[in-house]
Amino acid sequence: MSEITNEIKKRRTFAIISHPDAGKTTLTEKFLLYGGAINHAGSVKGKATAKHAVSDWMEIEKERGISVTSSVLQFHYGGYCINILDTPGHQDFSEDTYRTLMAADSAVMVIDASKGVEAQTRKLFKVCVMRHIPIFTFINKMDREAKDTFDLLDDIEKELGIATCPMNWPIGSGKEFKGVYDRQKKEVELFSDTHKGTSVGEVKKLDANNPELDWILDTQARVTLEEEIELLDGAAAEFDQELVSQGELSPVFFGSALTNFGVETFLKHFLAMTSSPLPRMSDQGEIDPMTEKDFSAFVFKIQANMNKAHRDRIAFMRICSGMFEAGMPVYHIQGGKDVRLSQPQQMMASERKMIETAYGGDIIGVFDPGIFSIGDTLTTSKDKFTYEGIPTFAPEHFARVRQVDTMKRKQFVKGINQIAQEGAIQIFQEYNTGMEEIIVGVVGVLQFDVLKYRLQNEYNVEIKLENLPYEHIRWIENKEINLDKLVGTSDMKKIKDLKDRPLLLFAHEWSIRMTLDRNKDLKLSEFGQS
Ligand code: GDP
Repeated sequence: MSEITNEIKKRRTFAIISHPDAGKTTLTEKFLLYGGAINHAGSVKGKATAKHAVSDWMEIEKERGISVTSSVLQFHYGGYCINILDTPGHQDFSEDTYRTLMAADSAVMVIDASKGVEAQTRKLFKVCVMRHIPIFTFINKMDREAKDTFDLLDDIEKELGIATCPMNWPIGSGKEFKGVYDRQKKEVELFSDTHKGTSVGEVKKLDANNPELDWILDTQARVTLEEEIELLDGAAAEFDQELVSQGELSPVFFGSALTNFGVETFLKHFLAMTSSPLPRMSDQGEIDPMTEKDFSAFVFKIQANMNKAHRDRIAFMRICSGMFEAGMPVYHIQGGKDVRLSQPQQMMASERKMIETAYGGDIIGVFDPGIFSIGDTLTTSKDKFTYEGIPTFAPEHFARVRQVDTMKRKQFVKGINQIAQEGAIQIFQEYNTGMEEIIVGVVGVLQFDVLKYRLQNEYNVEIKLENLPYEHIRWIENKEINLDKLVGTSDMKKIKDLKDRPLLLFAHEWSIRMTLDRNKDLKLSEFGQS
């Protein structure tokens, strides 16, 4: 096996998803702690954005020169090279969050044991399902009062429509949380004090029949565990690696990221059950990193440089095959010419660093003089294949944009188009009028403020936003439909995107169904292709 293939085989690239406050940052930090990337917990500044106003947020971006909202961390553990793609929650939630999932080969879903499945998880989960990537569940905060364990599993199965397979089972919860029972090995894992999670701690493993357990667990705890395991063995889905790989069965683990209970157990199992970088679809068939020798990558995120003086940007790409070397010329398919990828960088723990080489599975950011768009392919292969595009995710908030000073039309059009090209916003027009009326759609409301701030600061254009009542957008799939004859509902609006594709906006979800009923030939889609 070549050295490059060897490197790629070691890679595991996954996204970590959760509803805000479920413990994603804490768990990520603990992974880094076990991987030796940081010495003590508390050094990852993942949450810096949460409590800041937009302008502060911009300042942070400027200071750190890189997005704090969606970062990639790389670390090593047990012979693996691991790339974690963080997905921001809260108001930072944007299309970037969805697109990040396009760059991952699997996802880890963190769930708060006292809350179960929450809104943000549901949204992100949809994208994982669309991609059929494996999803692993970590039920966190078992050191606090938790929902009934069976109810939690039920919740995931019903809410998300995926079968679950508990790999381990909690022994007690809250103050009584002692450890987990490993169902495969039939072993009890007991965790030692980790000084509130600041050190790695020790794990004591005992066979389920070991009499020593009588000293450690009280009778009630033992009886409960035995009963629950019996129930579980009869009721839960069996572990099936094939179904896991297809994203149809989610292995479930229990633990507490704060106290490190169950974190390393999870990491080990997770790494063994996920695969190295997966093949990706192109216009010339699947490109498999194990057989494709040449470098190839696609752009999934573009980050504007906050420096007003030059409007250059950082393009983040997922390497799909081969090796990357700093400064090497690669062919940019959409641009139709060779480019040199300069200033390649990667996030290591909490800092950004320049890199010399990277391999399939890695994520790198490169300097972008304004030539890349989301979904672009880069390769050194003479076959010049193009990776499948990244879907356009449905915005959920819409506003009409008005310029305050109409003399600055040119700057305004340029600015709004550039910001849309970066994928921070989507722009639409009224169906029957020209550019006069621009409608902006965003996935997360913070993007409206970002748009306003950036147009003002980078393009010197002041705008007013008027919120629109629409929440649902659908792309019309069958282009032959005559839009003038469409019988819609009173809360429906016809618009078009920049490529003149017709779309419909609705204020209420039930209107979508009604419109479909009234127009039998109409085909609508929740995702558009960029
Ligand atoms: P995120 O928003 O998902 O990144 O959540 P954080 O990792 O920032 O955690 C949110 C809060 O929950 C913080 O105050 C953490 O200290 C706390 N937390 C995280 N994991 C645990 C856990 O396992 N047990 C308890 N009790 N608290 C936790």
